[in-house]
Amino acid sequence: MDISHKKRTLLKVILLGDSGVGKTSLMNQKFSQHYKATIGADFVTKELQVDDKLVTLQIWDTAGQERFNSLGAAFYRGADCCVLVYDVNAHKTFDTLNNWHDEFIKQADLNDHEAFPFVLLGNKVDVDGGNSRKVTEKKAREWCASRGNLPYFETSAKEGYNVDEAFLNVAKIASENE
Ligand code: GDP
Ligand code: MG
Repeated sequence: MDISHKKRTLLKVILLGDSGVGKTSLMNQKFSQHYKATIGADFVTKELQVDDKLVTLQIWDTAGQERFNSLGAAFYRGADCCVLVYDVNAHKTFDTLNNWHDEFIKQADLNDHEAFPFVLLGNKVDVDGGNSRKVTEKKAREWCASRGNLPYFETSAKEGYNVDEAFLNVAKIASENE
């Protein structure tokens, strides 16, 4: 299909979650360009086709300053989707999801946060063949249900498992929200 004349959309995606959960590894998976922004955050871009639209995801990551209140307004401004990430082997990173979710809503200054698209990723499912897992998929899905039915994906940035699928879904729901 010739999509060269089709509409192009730029969507800003924010990755949030505790230090060490694998955010930088997820965004470095097969992404071509890497920009160092001056505000203590980086972004990569990824081109995807969603139905008949060309979508460019601009994925923003913290540059190792995952403390609450340390990310400026420029980091959050104009976000089209927020991807929350935790490590399925570290319960603490799951417990802090509420804080990240609330922090995003507060900082992004959303008109309608109930309709805003969030996605949850449970990363590092490869570790120890799943034997050191601390958070069950059921628990994670319950949390998603309690926060307005967020889509949930289990990923391994190390093995590239489910990463493309997750970001394709991010592109879909972010472009629907546009
Ligand atoms: P960030 O602080 O959230 O950006 O996390 P990083 O991407 O820097 O990852 C922290 C550590 O976890 C690094 O040593 C990564 O190589 C490792 N890591 C990230 N994702 C995975 C994964 O899916 N599986 C495994 N086994 N290790 C991972
Ligand atoms: Mg990082």
